[in-house]
Amino acid sequence: MYCPFCRNPDSRVVDSRLVDDGSAIRRRRLCPECDRRFSTIETTSLTVNKRSGVSEPFSRSKIINGVRKACQGRPVSEDDLAILAQDVEESIRASGIAEIDAHAVGLEILKPLQRLDQIAYLRFASVYQDFESLEDFENAIETLRAEAGRRSTMPSGIQLPLDVR
Ligand SMILES: [Zn+2]
Repeated sequence: MYCPFCRNPDSRVVDSRLVDDGSAIRRRRLCPECDRRFSTIETTSLTVNKRSGVSEPFSRSKIINGVRKACQGRPVSEDDLAILAQDVEESIRASGIAEIDAHAVGLEILKPLQRLDQIAYLRFASVYQDFESLEDFENAIETLRAEAGRRSTMPSGIQLPLDVR
């Protein structure tokens, strides 16, 4: 790769370290021509296959844009969305696959979104799990209630973060 300062085609690696929980490696490089330093990040490529047959590189900003629509009017910040997109990318990369269907990416979003905001979750789930009837919503709400109930019956003495919205 060319030096970004002087376009010299050669550089020397002076340091390498794992970042993002080991899903990427960051290398500090030194250009022997201009003596300046720059960094490169190396990750495995992750391809998303869309229903249309088109493939594209995984993109956190696509995730954020998709979830942002479901979060309209909800108390969800841009930081929340960025963290969610990072969680989704990390869990997909942790599974060790190089390609994933766009639909499966949508399903990966559901779990962290459920923790983030239940209304946004229901909106998003209704699209990605193909809700067709009120019953589908009722079942999803029942599941949310059951999980909330399990959390509130945790033995005392265990500190849980309380959501007081
Ligand atoms: Zn240079």
